[in-house]
Amino acid sequence: MSEATDATTFTSSWVEGLVSSYSRLVAPVPDAYGVMSARSPEPGRVSVVIGGGCGHYPAFAGLVGPGLADAAVIGDVFTSPSAEQVHRTARAVDGGAGVLFGFGNYAGDVMHFGLAARRLAAEGVDSRTTLVTDDVASGPAHDTATRRGVAGGFLVYRIAAAAAARGYDLDGVARVAERANAMTRTFGAAFDGCALPGQREPLFTVPAGTMELGLGIHGEAGLRRVPAQDPTGLADTLVDTLLPELPAGTSGRTAVLLNGLGRTPYEDLFICYRQVHRRLAGAGLTPHRPEVGEFVTSLDMAGLSLSLLVLDDELADLYDEPCQSPAYTLAPQAAAAPPPTDAVPGPRPAHRPGTTTTPHTGDGAAGGVAAEALAAALAAVEAREQELGRLDAVAADGDHGRGMVRGLRAAVTAAQGAQPGDTAAAVGQALLLSGTALADAAGGASGALYGLLLTEIGGGILDAGDAPVTTELLAPAVDAAFHAVGELGGGAVGEKTMLDALAPFRDVLLGHADAGTPLATAWAEAARSATSAARATADIPAKRGRAARLGERGQGHADPGATSLALMASAVAGVLNDHCPATGSAPVPESR
Ligand code: ADP
Ligand code: MG
Repeated sequence: MSEATDATTFTSSWVEGLVSSYSRLVAPVPDAYGVMSARSPEPGRVSVVIGGGCGHYPAFAGLVGPGLADAAVIGDVFTSPSAEQVHRTARAVDGGAGVLFGFGNYAGDVMHFGLAARRLAAEGVDSRTTLVTDDVASGPAHDTATRRGVAGGFLVYRIAAAAAARGYDLDGVARVAERANAMTRTFGAAFDGCALPGQREPLFTVPAGTMELGLGIHGEAGLRRVPAQDPTGLADTLVDTLLPELPAGTSGRTAVLLNGLGRTPYEDLFICYRQVHRRLAGAGLTPHRPEVGEFVTSLDMAGLSLSLLVLDDELADLYDEPCQSPAYTLAPQAAAAPPPTDAVPGPRPAHRPGTTTTPHTGDGAAGGVAAEALAAALAAVEAREQELGRLDAVAADGDHGRGMVRGLRAAVTAAQGAQPGDTAAAVGQALLLSGTALADAAGGASGALYGLLLTEIGGGILDAGDAPVTTELLAPAVDAAFHAVGELGGGAVGEKTMLDALAPFRDVLLGHADAGTPLATAWAEAARSATSAARATADIPAKRGRAARLGERGQGHADPGATSLALMASAVAGVLNDHCPATGSAPVPESR
């Protein structure tokens, strides 16, 4: 990735290029970051909507078109799209027979797609979700549901879309998609890391003479570093890892996907495939319509992965369904011909130039205290954006700093548009608007969780009307928000997440509510305790979120979400001190 790429316009620019080059197949979703098939919606047919962060082309937007996905929702680089964007995209392609959502098993995607599904249900649109969990490196064989989704998603989406094209009803599409996922396994290796747009340093590096096994597709480093192997040796390693993972008693037809991660020569992929083919045949498996090429990349990562989908008659039949999309096409005659060798590998991802819109950076001057507080939080996070990214890159995808800046900019703008004022009603309303805007703009797990945090606090104080925002009013609202965030993320204190900073913050506020302490004083103390708790997360092994997949790797580094929470709380303390200084008010806490 070129460091000259403009990160702020990267996503909108490449999507614009995609829809202009492939307008014969796809169109932008009106008013959403999404791409839809030029033929969708089709009345009476189930729609398949896939999605996730970008940086994986052909996944997801290149896999949209007749016989493939009806639409892809597009998040920022390696960041889940927001619930709002998922909702708008699903509405755009719903033909009245319901929507099947397909995406990889990542906390942010699960939350945002889940919230969108709830909203659709309330509007009478039926949906089902298939979480892709093919990566054997990311969870134990006895608990495959905890695994993350990687390149095998391509196989699952193909099956789901084929069933929808054949006229299966929503339950039928969901059934075969679930089965395809249950029968798919992937394992991969990285030779070198990838760099985010506009950045020079890769998210991780692989020393010369070594490779990482079990990599993630968001720049997460692999689970194990081993001596480098040539493509043939690597084929043996991949097959040896996957064979014991396949469902017991498996023999016969198997869909095979040998996937390049963005910077691996096709020639190397074919050398690797040659040995994969021999080995599978030796194990009694028949490669069915094998595919070698780039399907789910990771920006410019060097490496590859092998996915196997054990087919039964129904899945094999569906896998032969013709389809057309910018990145993958199976012509009707090829579909009808006897297997195999008619693969059309997807094109290499084009270089993605940058233009257009720059997000508005607010200074907080236009709104009330909420806008000012959010602007201070934004400034604090902007100043530490790189560091938050680095903390996130230790064990996950490195997007936390950038996502928070994007989200907070939108939150500030939203709060500035609200009625100014320091009353509970004014602050509550501003927080409701800014929480929704933050979740939409930030995406990711933290976007969903921080968005909810703000809307819950806003909703909790709104009814107090013209009353001032006091510690007594705010503390229970923060407590309720803490519980809502725990519920949405399925997490608990002690798992190395933002909850570890939020819990002591909430505790201190609750303590002061009983004592009737002025808000500026109570908040400042709460922020101090969040700051030390965030620092202490360095000693906790990750149990939740993307970082959990790499277990011990994060040890010694603070959790990025806990760190950003403490930073923001400290920044807001300064604003409160100016707005409602209490006698003897505590000095603004150090944010480090
Ligand atoms: P993503 O994980 O989608 O890339 P970010 O990198 O922006 O999102 O945010 C990561 C942070 O979000 C983590 O450091 C953690 O504090 C928080 N987080 C992630 N998942 C959860 C969860 N399930 N519950 C609570 N906090 C979470
Ligand atoms: Mg992240």
